[in-house]
Amino acid sequence: MSYTYDEENIFAKILRGEIPCTKVAETESCLAFRDINPAAPVHVLVIPKGPYVNMDHFGAEASDAEIADFHRMISDVIRQEGLSEDGYRVISNAGVNGMQEVPHLHAHILGGRILGPLLSA
Ligand code: 5GP
Repeated sequence: MSYTYDEENIFAKILRGEIPCTKVAETESCLAFRDINPAAPVHVLVIPKGPYVNMDHFGAEASDAEIADFHRMISDVIRQEGLSEDGYRVISNAGVNGMQEVPHLHAHILGGRILGPLLSA
C-alpha cells in the first residue's frame, strides 16, 4: 500500500497557520483543536503534525515517538475536557467506507452527552 498525502487539505492549512483554529493542546508533533461543526458538547480533533492520511498510514510510517505522542495527547485531552467520569467516544474515519472528509489523520473525541449507538446506518 502506498499513501498519497494532499498538502492542500484543510488540516494541513491549519498546521501551516493559513486557517485559524481554536487550539486545545499542542506538542512538538501533535495539535488538538475544536471541531468547527461540533456533533456533541465536546468535540475535539487530535491530529499529528506529520503528513499522514489515516490510521493505517500512521501506524505503517510514523515513528514510535509520534505514535506515543498522538495517543498521549488523546488521553490528555479526554482528562482536560472532563470526560473521564461520564465517558466519551474516540473515532477515526478513513477512506470511502469510513466517509472521511479531511484526508489528514484525525481522532474525533466526543463527549458531554449520551452519544447513542455506535453506527446509525
Ligand atoms: P471526517 O469526516 O474527515 O472524519 O471529519 C472531518 C471533521 O473536520 C468534521 O467533523 C468537520 O466538521 C471538521 N472540519 C472541517 N473543516 C474544518 C475546519 O476548517 N476547522 C475545524 N476546526 N474543523 C473542521
